[in-house]
Amino acid sequence: MGYKLFVLPGDGIGPEVMAEVEKIANFFTKEGSASFEIEKGLVGGAAYDAHGVAISDADMARADAADAVLLAAVGGPKWDHVPYEVRPEAGLLRLRKDLKLFANLRPAVCYPALADASSLKRDLVDGLDLMIVRELTGGVYFGEPKQIIDLGNGQQRAIDTQVYDTYEIERIGRIAFELARKRRNKVTSSEKRNVMKSGVLWNQIITRLHDQEFPDVMLEHQLADALGMQLVRAPKQFDVIVTDNLFGDLLSDVASMLTGSLGMLPSASLGAYDAQTGKRKALYEPVHGSAPDIAGKGIANPIAMIASFGMALRYSFDLGALADRIDHAIAATLDKGLRTGDIKGNSTVTPLSTTQMGNAILKELQAG
Ligand code: NAD
Repeated sequence: MGYKLFVLPGDGIGPEVMAEVEKIANFFTKEGSASFEIEKGLVGGAAYDAHGVAISDADMARADAADAVLLAAVGGPKWDHVPYEVRPEAGLLRLRKDLKLFANLRPAVCYPALADASSLKRDLVDGLDLMIVRELTGGVYFGEPKQIIDLGNGQQRAIDTQVYDTYEIERIGRIAFELARKRRNKVTSSEKRNVMKSGVLWNQIITRLHDQEFPDVMLEHQLADALGMQLVRAPKQFDVIVTDNLFGDLLSDVASMLTGSLGMLPSASLGAYDAQTGKRKALYEPVHGSAPDIAGKGIANPIAMIASFGMALRYSFDLGALADRIDHAIAATLDKGLRTGDIKGNSTVTPLSTTQMGNAILKELQAG
């Protein structure tokens, strides 16, 4: 039986970068190292043009039935004026909500060949490999009340509510500790317990979870503001960072800049294990958007999309060895000096096209 991949290329550069992943998945199937059945759907503007919605019910059902969903990117100026409920991003939000994807994993890996593209000094980021685990469905972005009220005296009051229940903190904590066991065995939990009650509870629950279920993993706590500072001072001290929705949003964007380019950053969003099937819902996507400025030119960097597929192999299919092969193939390609335009920096090399970069990575995979 093959792994069922539901592929949503989306808009802009989406189909261009997704095509390179399909080549790699088909290569693994042909090689016999794993078997993938690829089914394709529409999301974002592409879905709106075909069905008048940002993702159809039929494609949602396919996403639900798949072993993993791969999404490239949605959006673009063509759909700037469509009704709010059917804007391209609504497709992405529906996938996250309906598949109950509560954990967002964003690795920040700095390939030695690209260390000079970072805004930090080479020795601070060369070989960096950290993972931010962000709670995705709770906290201040969703808590009620959430409103702007009129105070009647010429003033208005805006209210957002930060809410976390025990189970939400436990399940995200569990993901972080489990990940750490497969990495360098260290978790840094981050909140603001000095000024927020949700931070006090977060700290207590993570500590209890650690003591009861993961005593073998090293746990430290850092206040979120201090962690922000440490991320740009000495980022290599971190392995897995676990934090809430708001702090995770900010800190993962900071971490992403450590690596140099948007075209290099994968992500995963995971749900809970299904008690009956033992499988978990998961969506894998690059951090970048649909890049309308370069769409159709064949020059987008496919590495973030390919690395997202690598995360699917690791976290949905337990094919860590194949995921390692992808990571090594990307590193080897970069070590040879091969670059797409976005990661070329000041060098005078001729940039590769999307297809050429995909083929170069495939060649490394075929070689080893
Ligand atoms: P963007 O990530 O699409 O592009 C930002 C810049 O990075 C652009 O100059 C682009 O050319 C470059 N870039 C991005 N990915 C690249 C790649 N793989 N290779 C080379 N260069 C790359 O962000 P934006 O311009 O703010 O947004 C464009 C559209 O994408 C908007 O409609 C936005 O809503 C949407 N968007 C979608 C997602 C998503 O699908 N998850 C995320 C962010 C933005």
